[in-house]
Amino acid sequence: MKHRVSIFVFAALTFAIYFFEGEIWMYFVALVLFSFITFLGVANMDFKWFLKSYISNPHAKDRIIALTFDDGPTEFTPKFLDLLNRHHQKATFFCIGTQIKKHPEIFIRTVAEGHDVGNHSFSHSKTTGFLSIFKMKREIVRNDRIMLKKVGVKTDLYRPPFGITNPGIAAAIRKTGKKSIGWNIRSFDTAISDEKKILKRILPKIKPGSVILLHDTSDKSYRVLQEILLFLERENYRSVTVSELFNFKK
Ligand SMILES: [Zn+2]
Repeated sequence: MKHRVSIFVFAALTFAIYFFEGEIWMYFVALVLFSFITFLGVANMDFKWFLKSYISNPHAKDRIIALTFDDGPTEFTPKFLDLLNRHHQKATFFCIGTQIKKHPEIFIRTVAEGHDVGNHSFSHSKTTGFLSIFKMKREIVRNDRIMLKKVGVKTDLYRPPFGITNPGIAAAIRKTGKKSIGWNIRSFDTAISDEKKILKRILPKIKPGSVILLHDTSDKSYRVLQEILLFLERENYRSVTVSELFNFKK
């Protein structure tokens, strides 16, 4: 998409430099610019550089937001589910296949309690940005199969590991018929140790239609969730599933 336009612009620029007998440094500048823009596109799903990603719903009429949790299920997930239940809020869990294999009963419980589950790849590979289209597709399909086997659940929601997208990942998402789900509020709850700092990154940015990225992988994130839920109650917000936020048909 936008990536193709940028390739076209780069090619046109290179040709123009050649045609007007430009200096060698001009080619270099064009290449650096192109690489920089492409890198930004890879690292930021909200640029929608390679494919459309759902990152928030600015048209949300009610005071609704979507809490999303990546990288589970883990031994911490039941606490998160208990807490969400107590506050009568729904969320979306983007699960990793290898984690579902470790904690199938928690995955089953998540679905049974009315939360959305999405695919977050089979192994959350650290080399996710360098996988072939074939391998990337297999990462998605293997996780789909586990979900289907464990609870008979089919999901068309997909969140790319690390929020990285590139032409290969975009092709794998298209070929598996997934919707790419991002976020517009990133908590950095796995990187920042100070809970207050994490909350400062989240709470002031909450608006109707926001999608918040958290991880059900630590007690720290659990305490952050406690504060977020109190804030939502105070401010009269409701957390809904991603499908509900974007009006996806189930
Ligand atoms: Zn992840």
